[in-house]
Amino acid sequence: MREVGSPLVAAIKRHSLEDGPGIRTVVFLKGCAFRCSFCQNPETRDPRAEIGFSPASCIGCGRCVQACPRDAASTTAPERIDRDRCDRCARCAGACPSGSLHVIGRTHEPEALVAALLRDRPFWRHSGGGVTFSGGECLLYPRYLERVLRLLVAEGVHVTIQTGGGFDYDRCAARVWPYVRLVQFDVKLADPRAHRKHCGTDNGRILANLRRILAEPGLEVQPRVPLVPGVTDAPGNLEAIVELLVDAGADRITLLPYNPLCVRAGDRVGLPRPLHPERFLTWEEEGAARERVRRALGARRIRTAAPEGPAKGDLHPRLTVLGSTDRSRQGA
Ligand code: SF4
Ligand code: SF4
Repeated sequence: MREVGSPLVAAIKRHSLEDGPGIRTVVFLKGCAFRCSFCQNPETRDPRAEIGFSPASCIGCGRCVQACPRDAASTTAPERIDRDRCDRCARCAGACPSGSLHVIGRTHEPEALVAALLRDRPFWRHSGGGVTFSGGECLLYPRYLERVLRLLVAEGVHVTIQTGGGFDYDRCAARVWPYVRLVQFDVKLADPRAHRKHCGTDNGRILANLRRILAEPGLEVQPRVPLVPGVTDAPGNLEAIVELLVDAGADRITLLPYNPLCVRAGDRVGLPRPLHPERFLTWEEEGAARERVRRALGARRIRTAAPEGPAKGDLHPRLTVLGSTDRSRQGA
């Protein structure tokens, strides 16, 4: 897997409480090897810069139409841009007074990125937080990450990586792991055919990387399963994932409820809508998924870690299942 140049940063999200310990600053890099129909960050799939359109902030001034040299912008088209005609020159975004049209994906030299991130240091210090790299697949860029992470770690910053598992293991082990404290590793579908159907490729590389990283000494790995209604909670999938995680030596399983707002994010960059329902899981569905995982774990004790209960005021908390020693089984 070849790393081509520096990645583009799609967004920097500050003050996240959901992307690792404490308050996190999350850097989303563009580019991914997969095409998951339920992608939570669809604007990060394409490694190239894109033009995003947010209809709510459009004031209908027509400056985008005047600025476009290819006759690709229109105030009457609901998507604003004909993406077949558009060459991503970004003149419309430059002319748009409201930010309704905007560029997604900008280069950041490592030093400049780190300087921008370190502004959040007071929040990390008081919460035990740090920086999380996500995507897309941030591990497509181990050389760039190494340059950034070396600077962050020299400043004493806790670094978390979020990955979908589609990366070159040896390059990441050499360049990235030495700087990372936590890896959040998403496992979506156990069956290779289902994975190909919903994510565009089979899952052979993902599962091989998962086994290797779980055996990595000194690296904390948190496997996560996104719960997508009708896709990842399909019969047998959660149970099969439990089997392979236990077999690979995982010490915990985190279930991540699907967030349908990603569909609107896909709209902004002109992606076709996924076929599965645009809705949150119900509490009953979440409870059923949790019970299925518990049943699949049975009496097997996987090593437990600190539970992540719902944050105070969190209306739709993540779920964490910690095997046979989790709190509900202890009556807590
Ligand atoms: S990015 Fe360029 S080609 Fe595309 S709609 Fe905007 S101005 Fe036109
Ligand atoms: S320039 Fe921006 S605000 Fe004006 S019509 Fe185009 S998208 Fe809307």
